[in-house]
Amino acid sequence: MRDVIRREMTRRAVTAGLAALPLFGAAGARAASAARVVIVGGGAGGATAAVTLKRAVPLLEVTLIEPEQDYTSCFHSNHYLGGFVPVERITHGYGGLSALGITLVRDRAVGFDFSNREVRTEGGASIGYDRLVVAPGIGFKKDEIEGYDDAAREVMPHAWSGGVQVRALRSQIEAMEDGGLVVIAPPRNPYRCPPGPYERACLIAHHLKLTKPKSKVIVIDPKMAYSKQAVFEEGIAKYYKGILEVHLTNDLDDMALQRVDGLTGELVTKSGDVFKSAVANVIPDQTAGKIALDAGLTDKSGWCPVEFATFRSTLAEHVYVVGDAAVAADMPKSAYSASDQARTVAGHILADLTGTPRPPAVYRNTCWSMLAPDDSVWIGADYAPGEFRGRPVLVPRDSFISAPGEPASVRKATYDGGIAWYRTLTDEMFAKAGVRN
Ligand SMILES: Cc1cc2nc3c(=O)[nH]c(=O)nc-3n(C[C@H](O)[C@H](O)[C@H](O)COP(=O)(O)OP(=O)(O)OC[C@H]3O[C@@H](n4cnc5c(N)ncnc54)[C@H](O)[C@@H]3O)c2cc1C
Repeated sequence: MRDVIRREMTRRAVTAGLAALPLFGAAGARAASAARVVIVGGGAGGATAAVTLKRAVPLLEVTLIEPEQDYTSCFHSNHYLGGFVPVERITHGYGGLSALGITLVRDRAVGFDFSNREVRTEGGASIGYDRLVVAPGIGFKKDEIEGYDDAAREVMPHAWSGGVQVRALRSQIEAMEDGGLVVIAPPRNPYRCPPGPYERACLIAHHLKLTKPKSKVIVIDPKMAYSKQAVFEEGIAKYYKGILEVHLTNDLDDMALQRVDGLTGELVTKSGDVFKSAVANVIPDQTAGKIALDAGLTDKSGWCPVEFATFRSTLAEHVYVVGDAAVAADMPKSAYSASDQARTVAGHILADLTGTPRPPAVYRNTCWSMLAPDDSVWIGADYAPGEFRGRPVLVPRDSFISAPGEPASVRKATYDGGIAWYRTLTDEMFAKAGVRN
């Protein structure tokens, strides 16, 4: 574990914009400080990019457009759903960014004028930029599941973005009578946080085991396999036998959702199986956030294509896309990935503004999942831009994954590492000076 942390710290120092500044020299710093960078979306990607840029070149004009007053992180929201932390622990304000001198615009971006380099907001503002970072996270596909309309979305919350839906799901679990059935319906690939639905299932099962032991959790999954499956299966057999079942699809798509009924709580699969839920967590298939789709930054996949060496959009000049919205090949959509891409993009923006050459980056992802108290597993890899059969790819290397049968001490160390990562990232994203909420 210590080696992994040391390697991480060295790599961060090399890739972050902070380290890049001295390389530009005084003239470079002057050129960068006259520039305006606008960032759309204050999540793991956008907030990290804003803070990294501002810390590297304090005179740079950095503007962050974000409609929400606070950010409730999806990462570690399963810890909240499982009753391990209050919602305040995963909710963060933007005060640290203002204190750094970042201009906060409490508004929603609704369009871009790429030729005049302007962002239009819902409130009617036009904000000019020299470089634009687009980091709006995800959107959800509509009309794929019969009956999953706006009303059903309220009663069967996806809880896959923002705080309102996560709080709604938690309240439903709290209100459920003992003996109730919680059904979780994960999305198809690609989607935000591949191991997230299974961690959620484990932590809700943990909570029910303690508080409502006659209740059950069933996952009905449109996929045939999922991330970290071997260690999840081992954990489910060890901790949640008789409480949690995962039903994977077969090659006929049998576990994909055909229809839901928000009034009765029924979920019907393509094969005709009917599940009568007391609480339904329906997580629809996903795309890049709406603004990216509306602005034409997406391709036919519904995600934003980027050059892997820089995360510059391939569809618009002077625009970078980071985080879940970007097509990042095999790099999973995670807060770890988003923040790592953001640090690299900050370095590329500064290099771009100052005309300084910069080598392509190597990115990193690590995803922790909690199975039970003091028992977490992880998966991760580095990703280097490369080519396969003439097409650009991100080549994974130095990958690692938790194995079944690991001793409890290893799982505890992995758990501690995940908690430390959350704190380090949110301190960085929200420019906290060691003061915790
Ligand atoms: C249950 C769950 C568990 C997870 N666990 C982990 C984990 O353990 N580790 C991990 O690394 N990742 C985890 N993730 C994934 C992680 O939350 C996302 O990958 C990460 O938040 C992506 O960052 P982002 O910046 O792309 O999007 P976000 O963090 O969602 O930020 C997007 C921001 O953009 C704003 N926005 C959207 N549209 C506009 C607009 N038009 N104008 C202005 N602002 C806009 C939104 O309000 C939001 O604040 C988890 C996700 C879920 C759902």
